[in-house]
Amino acid sequence: MRNGVMLQGFQWELPADGRHWSLLKKQARQFARMGITSLWLPPATKGSGGANDVGYGVYDLYDLGEFDQKGSVRTKYGTAAEYRACVKALRAAGIQTLADAVLNHRLGADGTERVRAVPVNPDNRLDIGQEPVEAEVYTRFGFPGRGKRYSGFEWNASCFTAVDWNGLDPRRCLWLLEGKQWATDVDGEHGNYDYLMGADVDVNDPRVKRELNRWGRWYLLHTRVDGFRLDAVKHISAAFYRDWLKALRRASRREVYAVGEYWQPDVEALLRYLDQVDHGMDLFDVPLHFHLREASASGGAYDMRQLMQATLTQRAPMCAVTFVDNHDTQPGQSLESWVDGWFKAAAYGIILLQKEGYPCVFWGDLFGIPSRGIGAVSELPELMRIRRWCAWGEQTPAVEDSHLFGFVRGGTSAVPGSGLVFLCTNARGGVCHVEVGQDFAGQTFRCAVGGQASVRIGEDGWADFAVADGGCSVYVPQETLRVHLWRAWTTARKRLAGAVHGVRVKVLG
Ligand code: CA
Repeated sequence: MRNGVMLQGFQWELPADGRHWSLLKKQARQFARMGITSLWLPPATKGSGGANDVGYGVYDLYDLGEFDQKGSVRTKYGTAAEYRACVKALRAAGIQTLADAVLNHRLGADGTERVRAVPVNPDNRLDIGQEPVEAEVYTRFGFPGRGKRYSGFEWNASCFTAVDWNGLDPRRCLWLLEGKQWATDVDGEHGNYDYLMGADVDVNDPRVKRELNRWGRWYLLHTRVDGFRLDAVKHISAAFYRDWLKALRRASRREVYAVGEYWQPDVEALLRYLDQVDHGMDLFDVPLHFHLREASASGGAYDMRQLMQATLTQRAPMCAVTFVDNHDTQPGQSLESWVDGWFKAAAYGIILLQKEGYPCVFWGDLFGIPSRGIGAVSELPELMRIRRWCAWGEQTPAVEDSHLFGFVRGGTSAVPGSGLVFLCTNARGGVCHVEVGQDFAGQTFRCAVGGQASVRIGEDGWADFAVADGGCSVYVPQETLRVHLWRAWTTARKRLAGAVHGVRVKVLG
């Protein structure tokens, strides 16, 4: 039994020194010790920005830092060989790896083509011009640095739906290529949100579909990753990813875990999408992120009873990947909506200790963002430890209040020392009278996070727990520490005995 934790293994402003794959490889065992069970790797594919591209401006899906293209062999994070070694080391440490698949668009074409295209209003993509006009568009991808290695597929205008640049017409609009149409099963923002950026890949074209299916199989075999984080799914035909995942799972005979990024605070849109893809993937709980952000930024005005309302965690808990922040919400990025530092420990306490959701910890929170002077969330390692040791059993609300939020985890006999009380506030703290349960009667709960005094549970199973102003408190059974110290000691003793035994065998041999 284990309580999984995903780590988003990067933030936007990592140094572009080509050493990230090697760093992750070196840290693999340390990550496992911290309780991380899966790691979302940044896009390994070569972007139009070459060695400086974060990876979302994808140029060549088959160049993972192996070919001299876009000014360098390596990507921002290292070479293809280093990527594969990193995946291997993470697997050896018992950590699942998730590749970031960016299939919506292409950037940095090798050349232009003369085509005909229709202007489209970027603010209302259903406002499409009548007459096609001559257009010069960046849609020719020949990958001269790679040649035909891994795939001979050549991308040209017939593979794309639209672009946002026409060399023959300076109008600032989108250009729908002649004979193409928007996919209808995409997000409805701007009328139709098929187009995001660059050259929009026409995933409904049969040749493109075949090629992307082929790429998925190649990627799994070539890199041995366990699954995918799917970028920008609200801009891609839902039927495409539904079929792509099914085909990939059938062909590889593997589980192929997948989580999609559908950036939309409206939970109904997420639920609709899950239906459209036959629940073939999890989704990030974007509504919950916005609730956490609001609770942190509204100066105590936010009603904490709303925190879990209309979130994916509440409505489709089996498909919810919970997170506090990510590479897009961090300061300076496109979707900046950073959860304020003072509320971070509370936010992580919620996603790591609650029963529902698969929590994803952000690199920028675990290690800080030095380029912005943002420090690490110091409580995170302890919260991750508490998740593993204590966050078990049924969950009941600890308090019903507009400024206090909290819950009790009842623990399970299968995990000795498990159970906890979690409290947080977005305003004034205080003391809450909480029912922990008869099973804990007479036991002492230690405050592991929050700096409060220990609490003895009454014979009726109730006790008073405190939380500081604007703070969070996590109380765990005193028992936990004893159990885990004992376990650590016996493991160390066994290891020592094994080592001594090993030496003896060697000497005798
Ligand atoms: Ca698209």
